[in-house]
Amino acid sequence: METNEQMKRMLREAVREEVERFFVAVDELAEGKLEQLEAQVVQTSQQVGRTLLEGVLNSRLRRERPAARREGSCGHRQRLVGERPKELLTLVGKVRFVRPYYQCLEGCEQDGICTHGEAPDDVLWGVHERRTTPGVQREISYLCGRLTFEEAADTFCRQVPLLMSGRQALSLMRPLGAALTAQQDQQVTALQAQAKQARSQPCAQPPPKEIERLYIELDGVLARMRRGSVPLEQEEVQRKGDVYREIKAGAVFRAERGAKRSELAPGVYVDTPAPDSMRYVARRTAKGGFAWLLYQLALQCGLEQAEQVVVLGDGAPWIWNLVAEHFPGAVQIVDLSHAKEHVWDVAHAVFGRGTASGTAWATAACSLLEQGQIADLVSAIAALPPIPPEPGQARSIPERAVDYFTTNAQRMRYPVFRAQGMHVGSGIAEAACKTIVSTRAKRCGMRWTPEGLDALLPVRTAVLNGAYDSFWAEEYAA
Ligand SMILES: [Zn+2]
Repeated sequence: METNEQMKRMLREAVREEVERFFVAVDELAEGKLEQLEAQVVQTSQQVGRTLLEGVLNSRLRRERPAARREGSCGHRQRLVGERPKELLTLVGKVRFVRPYYQCLEGCEQDGICTHGEAPDDVLWGVHERRTTPGVQREISYLCGRLTFEEAADTFCRQVPLLMSGRQALSLMRPLGAALTAQQDQQVTALQAQAKQARSQPCAQPPPKEIERLYIELDGVLARMRRGSVPLEQEEVQRKGDVYREIKAGAVFRAERGAKRSELAPGVYVDTPAPDSMRYVARRTAKGGFAWLLYQLALQCGLEQAEQVVVLGDGAPWIWNLVAEHFPGAVQIVDLSHAKEHVWDVAHAVFGRGTASGTAWATAACSLLEQGQIADLVSAIAALPPIPPEPGQARSIPERAVDYFTTNAQRMRYPVFRAQGMHVGSGIAEAACKTIVSTRAKRCGMRWTPEGLDALLPVRTAVLNGAYDSFWAEEYAA
């Protein structure tokens, strides 16, 4: 990039004036007022930043005069109509600069003269039809991965002298979400091709098993959707109020021996996630493709180097179908907290909420569950007085619970799992998947559109996985 002598002279002078103004402001401050001094320094440095940015972008300060004629992107001859201002939102605040603007001189036969106009500098700087710099997009999108859109905009504007709404924050984040999704899809396609090839020519040497245990946790979480943004089911059309759609979420981590002793086996310690090994993935169920995304993440986390793979999930059939396909041989565990919820559902349905008899029954049933005595638990449920099914259901809650515990009995051998120091789903296990979705997509009062979720989820997981900056630098900005 060229900065000519005239530009340098003008900018030096402009910066010097800002520094002089700074001295005047500081002279008025009492000694010891650090907060005010600091505020003044920040203000001055932002002003200096705007001056420099405006100066470099300003076409009048550049050496070459703009050409009087050029060919436009529409293919027509264009003439210079003057220098027009453009406003940009930047990391140092709002800047305004002028750049040459061209208008078409000709057109096609049917429509007459083309009304097209354009500024070649906008294309040069990558701000054609944009009001923000890449830096603003990078920072605001990062915050969108952590906070609600309104919070992201608010937080951003505390640091940067700009005004921004939650809606603007979302629209800045959206292209980044699309790019991340495209990258995910590309990686999955490559992986599928690789898997196909591997089947036809079995691999040579399996990699050494350097990871003792790799954990995969799966969950389905519901997000509240804006009515009208998704096709409604028959019963949703009749029923007023919110509609919910599922997001599939997964967390993968390497285990290491934790500080907590297993209560069942002397000398065995309960696994805990190895520092900085937790990685997340999430996708709207209706969008599809979650299973391969998860498989790809697991490979990145060392699936092929893992001695043992442990999958934790609730009883949902999709989870165990996915495991059978992508992680055959994995130890399958139904998350204990999910299983307990089913026990409590039965107690509430049969005895009523908050009743002493219900609590007593559920406590005893949960203890059977923890001891892995699933046959006894099933008998205890079957022995309860029968209740009618809920409206719209063929079978009652206790009947469905019997199915659930019978189907998943092998995945509820908690004493066996615990004796090996395995996680069975308290603490971290329960929180992992919820971290992705609940704290962000399930905030109260928040209603989603499918497009909004599809953009947010990859950004959120990239932020949580510590992959945001490298994606930006290597993929997006490039
Ligand atoms: Zn034209």
